[in-house]
Amino acid sequence: MARDNFIIAIDGFSSCGKSTVAKALAKALGFVFVDSGAMYRAVTLYFLRHHIDIHNIEDVRVALSDIHIDFIPHPKKIKVLLNEEDVTDEIRLMKVSDRVSEISAIKEVREAMVAQQQQLGHKRNIIMDGRDIGTTVFPDADLKIFMTASPAVRAQRRYDELQLKGEQITLEEVMANIAHRDHIDSTRKESPLRQAEDAIVLDNSNMTQEEQLQFVIEEYQKRK
Ligand code: C5P
Repeated sequence: MARDNFIIAIDGFSSCGKSTVAKALAKALGFVFVDSGAMYRAVTLYFLRHHIDIHNIEDVRVALSDIHIDFIPHPKKIKVLLNEEDVTDEIRLMKVSDRVSEISAIKEVREAMVAQQQQLGHKRNIIMDGRDIGTTVFPDADLKIFMTASPAVRAQRRYDELQLKGEQITLEEVMANIAHRDHIDSTRKESPLRQAEDAIVLDNSNMTQEEQLQFVIEEYQKRK
C-alpha cells in the first residue's frame, strides 16, 4: 500500500553538515528530524559505560535489549535521551566518536537501530540523516540527498565545533578521526555508506547553509 507521508533521506560522510541542513529543512517544512548518528552514538556511550565486550554477541544482545533512545524536541536543540538520561552533549565527545564506527558496524546493533528508525518514519513526514538511510532504512524515500564536502573543509568544521565546546584536540586528530570513521563506514559489511542510485549529490564545500537549504527545498518541491 502506498505511503501518504513524505520521507527525506540525507546520507553522507562524517562532518559534512548533514544535520545542519536536515534541521533547517525540518524547520522550514514542518517535518520531524531524526539524527540517526545520535542513536549509534548513544549505543556507543552505553557500551563504553558498561564495558560491553563487542566480540561477545550475547552480551551485545542483552545490552541492546536494555537500551532505549528517545528524542525530545527542545527550542534550542533536540535532546537525546538514553534510558531517560539526557546524553545530548556527552555523545558528541571524542571518547564516543573514537569508538562509534566500530560499534555501528556490528550486525545486531544495526538491526536494532534500523528497526527503531523505520518505526520513527511510520506515518510521519520525516527527515532522517545518516549513512544508510536512502539505501537500507528507507530505500523508498521520496527524496534522497547524498552530501559530501572536501576532507579539509569537513575537518575544519568539526574542529571549530569541538573548540566551541572546549574540547582539547588538534586539527590533525580531528582529521584522523574523520578519515578513520569514513573508512570503517564505507567498508563495513553491514549496510556500508554508499550513495543510493537515485540520490542527488550535494557537494557543499563552497556553499553557504542558506544555499544548501534552497537546493534541497527546490528538489523537494519538484517531488511533492
Ligand atoms: O552522523 P554522525 O557522524 O554523528 O554518526 C556517528 C557514527 O555513527 C558514524 O561515523 C557512523 O559510524 C555511524 N552511523 C551509521 N549509520 C547511520 C548513522 C551513523 O553507521 N545511519
